[in-house]
Amino acid sequence: MKPNENFWTHVPSYNCSWYWNNLNKIKLGMQQWYSNDRYTLTANGKYYVNQSYLALLGHGTLVESHELIWSKIVLPKHMFILWLAYHKKLFTKDRTVGMRMQCETADCMLCEQEEIEDAKHVFVDCDWAKAVWSELMQWVEMQLPQMETRVTLSYIKQNEGGSAGCDAWSTGVLQPEDQELEKISRTKCEHQP
Ligand SMILES: [Zn+2]
Repeated sequence: MKPNENFWTHVPSYNCSWYWNNLNKIKLGMQQWYSNDRYTLTANGKYYVNQSYLALLGHGTLVESHELIWSKIVLPKHMFILWLAYHKKLFTKDRTVGMRMQCETADCMLCEQEEIEDAKHVFVDCDWAKAVWSELMQWVEMQLPQMETRVTLSYIKQNEGGSAGCDAWSTGVLQPEDQELEKISRTKCEHQP
């Protein structure tokens, strides 16, 4: 910006940074909050930070099973992995190859099926995952079909009592310090090179 230039009338140059360009886009939206110098997001015309914050957030699309992922009882690292899995953004080998990153083999390293490691294989088709899942189900005495992440979450929501069911599930299963879970995982790893 030039010295003494008005921020509200400033037009960013075509080669400005991504951040500056986006700040200016936000500014254009904020100008809509005022009419005849009156703040229009509240009935009384008084400025409230929370109203501005909500207006800036906008109306995003709610993820169907968000309450099962962002549950207060799920550990942060599990939330993050689950969120990535839900959006099919886990760093599986098929994505590595898609990004043209160097990769010795795209095959799954957990089983000997010589199948490409993608999200579906890792969670559903992999023999190793099937064995872990089977033992896990026996241990927690639950019968949950082995499906892709989105379908599994949807199933839990419909059949296991929604977020309450998820809390119970998380409490029983997803505690990292739990020796039993580690034992199951280790047992299944033993045949791996
Ligand atoms: Zn596999």
